[in-house]
Amino acid sequence: MTEPLQIVLARLARVRPSRSGFMACCPAHDDRHPSLSVRRAPDGRVLVHCFAGCPLEAVLSALGLRLRDLRPEARP
Ligand SMILES: [Zn+2]
Repeated sequence: MTEPLQIVLARLARVRPSRSGFMACCPAHDDRHPSLSVRRAPDGRVLVHCFAGCPLEAVLSALGLRLRDLRPEARP
Protein backbone atom coordinates (compact mmCIF):
# COMPACT_ATOMS: atom_id res chain seq x y z
CA MET A 1 0.00 0.00 0.00
CA THR A 2 1.37 3.37 -1.01
CA GLU A 3 1.29 6.09 1.59
CA PRO A 4 -0.51 9.24 0.42
CA LEU A 5 2.56 11.16 1.56
CA GLN A 6 4.73 9.29 -0.95
CA ILE A 7 2.28 10.02 -3.75
CA VAL A 8 2.30 13.73 -3.00
CA LEU A 9 6.06 14.05 -2.49
CA ALA A 10 6.77 12.21 -5.74
CA ARG A 11 4.99 14.96 -7.66
CA LEU A 12 6.68 17.92 -6.01
CA ALA A 13 9.90 19.71 -6.89
CA ARG A 14 12.75 20.59 -4.53
CA VAL A 15 11.40 18.56 -1.66
CA ARG A 16 13.42 18.91 1.50
CA PRO A 17 12.81 17.83 5.07
CA SER A 18 11.61 20.42 7.53
CA ARG A 19 11.08 20.37 11.25
CA SER A 20 7.48 19.21 10.96
CA GLY A 21 7.58 17.31 7.67
CA PHE A 22 8.66 18.53 4.26
CA MET A 23 8.89 21.74 2.29
CA ALA A 24 8.63 21.87 -1.49
CA CYS A 25 8.02 24.30 -4.30
CA CYS A 26 4.34 25.04 -4.61
CA PRO A 27 3.07 23.91 -8.01
CA ALA A 28 0.14 26.35 -7.92
CA HIS A 29 2.15 29.57 -8.10
CA ASP A 30 5.55 30.71 -9.35
CA ASP A 31 7.48 29.46 -6.37
CA ARG A 32 11.20 30.26 -6.26
CA HIS A 33 11.70 29.33 -2.64
CA PRO A 34 9.89 26.27 -1.36
CA SER A 35 6.79 27.56 0.40
CA LEU A 36 4.63 24.49 0.37
CA SER A 37 4.46 22.60 3.62
CA VAL A 38 3.67 18.90 3.38
CA ARG A 39 3.34 16.69 6.37
CA ARG A 40 1.74 13.50 7.47
CA ALA A 41 -0.98 13.62 10.10
CA PRO A 42 -0.96 10.90 12.77
CA ASP A 43 -3.92 9.22 11.04
CA GLY A 44 -2.05 8.97 7.75
CA ARG A 45 -3.69 11.88 5.95
CA VAL A 46 -1.44 14.35 4.18
CA LEU A 47 -1.64 17.97 5.27
CA VAL A 48 -0.67 20.45 2.57
CA HIS A 49 -0.29 24.17 3.15
CA CYS A 50 1.05 26.91 0.88
CA PHE A 51 2.49 29.78 2.88
CA ALA A 52 1.90 32.08 -0.09
CA GLY A 53 -1.82 31.48 0.30
CA CYS A 54 -2.72 29.12 -2.53
CA PRO A 55 -5.93 27.27 -1.77
CA LEU A 56 -5.60 23.54 -1.29
CA GLU A 57 -7.77 22.91 -4.34
CA ALA A 58 -5.33 24.87 -6.53
CA VAL A 59 -2.34 22.92 -5.25
CA LEU A 60 -4.11 19.60 -5.77
CA SER A 61 -5.28 20.40 -9.26
CA ALA A 62 -1.75 21.52 -10.21
CA LEU A 63 -0.53 18.13 -9.01
CA GLY A 64 -3.29 16.23 -10.75
CA LEU A 65 -4.56 14.90 -7.44
CA ARG A 66 -7.90 14.88 -5.70
CA LEU A 67 -8.74 15.39 -2.07
CA ARG A 68 -9.28 11.68 -1.62
CA ASP A 69 -5.70 11.08 -2.72
CA LEU A 70 -4.56 12.74 0.50
CA ARG A 71 -6.30 10.16 2.64
CA PRO A 72 -5.09 6.67 3.38
CA GLU A 73 -6.84 3.98 1.44
CA ALA A 74 -10.12 3.01 3.00
CA ARG A 75 -10.08 -0.46 4.39
CA PRO A 76 -13.30 -2.41 3.95
ZN1 LIG B 1 1.36 28.39 -3.63
